[in-house]
Amino acid sequence: MDDAAQDLTNRTDMTAYWMPFTANRQFKAAPRMLVSASGMYYRSDDGREILDGTAGLWCVNAGHGRSEIAAAVQHQLMTLDYAPSFQMGHPIAFDFAARLARIAPPGLDRIFYVNSGSEAVDTALKMAIAYHRARGEGQRVRLVGRERAYHGVGFGGISVGGLVNNRRSYPLLTSDHIRHTQDPRNAFARGLPLHGAERADDLEQLVALHGAETIAAVIVEPVAGAGGVLPPPQGYLERLRAICDKHGILLIFDEVITGFGRLGTPFAAQFFGVTPDLMTTAKGITNATVPMGAVFASRKVHDAVVGGGAEGAVEFFHGYTYSGHPAACAAGLATLDIYEREGLFANAAAMAPLWEEALHGLKDAPNVVDIRNVGLMAAIELAPRPGAPAARGYQALVKTFEAGLTVRVAGDIVCLSPPLIINAEQVGRVAEILRGVLTYLD
Ligand code: PMP
Repeated sequence: MDDAAQDLTNRTDMTAYWMPFTANRQFKAAPRMLVSASGMYYRSDDGREILDGTAGLWCVNAGHGRSEIAAAVQHQLMTLDYAPSFQMGHPIAFDFAARLARIAPPGLDRIFYVNSGSEAVDTALKMAIAYHRARGEGQRVRLVGRERAYHGVGFGGISVGGLVNNRRSYPLLTSDHIRHTQDPRNAFARGLPLHGAERADDLEQLVALHGAETIAAVIVEPVAGAGGVLPPPQGYLERLRAICDKHGILLIFDEVITGFGRLGTPFAAQFFGVTPDLMTTAKGITNATVPMGAVFASRKVHDAVVGGGAEGAVEFFHGYTYSGHPAACAAGLATLDIYEREGLFANAAAMAPLWEEALHGLKDAPNVVDIRNVGLMAAIELAPRPGAPAARGYQALVKTFEAGLTVRVAGDIVCLSPPLIINAEQVGRVAEILRGVLTYLD
């Protein structure tokens, strides 16, 4: 450790900060501290370069330290630091929405700003209910999610979310869940698995049980992320779309992870050729530099809610102080410029086959029971250590960090989602580090 880094560590009093989604005591006893970042790499407080295997938290799609974004934010803050978006406007919010609309899935070009993925989810769920109410179907309030889904931590998001630890202990909205699509027959499938599209028919069962007239929306991550990277079986999303259409149920894609190029297209909706009615985004929208999210609404939903209305009548009683924050819009515009100028979505598509090959090359490492991938996402599922679920996954997290790579773990599933700037050599390095670590896990 160099002197400056040592000094920083010595000076850091860790007691006050209550860390999110972290085993606080354990972490503070043996912290992993990141002090700077550039391109594909973090630097740790002991001066090591750590390859970013997760694009931060699935969000730094253009890589770290992008000076163009910093300059755009600085310029915006000195021009117009803040302006309200309720009954007032500022140009950059409209400019950014127009740019987002240009890369949106077909017809999904009405943009509502929020500050995070969780807010995007709660907003989209409220929009779905508001849509039905505006059309005289106010009884459609039931929401449907999936097992193992992650939709953030707002009350709406945990209600439709399917990760038990996040839901237990809290009051929830009325919601139901359909099964997830993981199927043992799909183990080690490359890309979209073959089996399981029929699980979409679970929705028909809920319709039979509750009546379509009570169901407002179904929300799914096109590729489940935080639950352990679960690509949908071939035909699954198409089937879900068809069932929703048949019963007048809105389909929401939560693209907080899959948005902004993760699969090699602007959004997963384009990758799969399935267009939802509402789409939630965040993370890569600003390359994670300034907190922001956006809900992309179809004209159908937008027009029904916005309607005609009397003079001064507010149509949608919803919004945040920082909706369309000028600094976030500036960061977002600069981020889109980078994605386009550097062809990063195309790079993700070009790297995806190498990524698949490199990760599936780990098939024979000890304890590996499944490897899944699509676009620049992947998961390596490990057999749990007997009597200690998640211990092996946690050990993988600690050991990969020591070996110079960041991963996310969901229990015993090691998840990867590198920045879209990754090159072939770095893909190889990710696999090499993982092989070294997996070989020696307890
Ligand atoms: N939805 C999905 C699919 C996510 O992956 C996440 C975050 N990982 C969220 C919602 C919540 O986003 P945030 O943490 O910005 O609230």
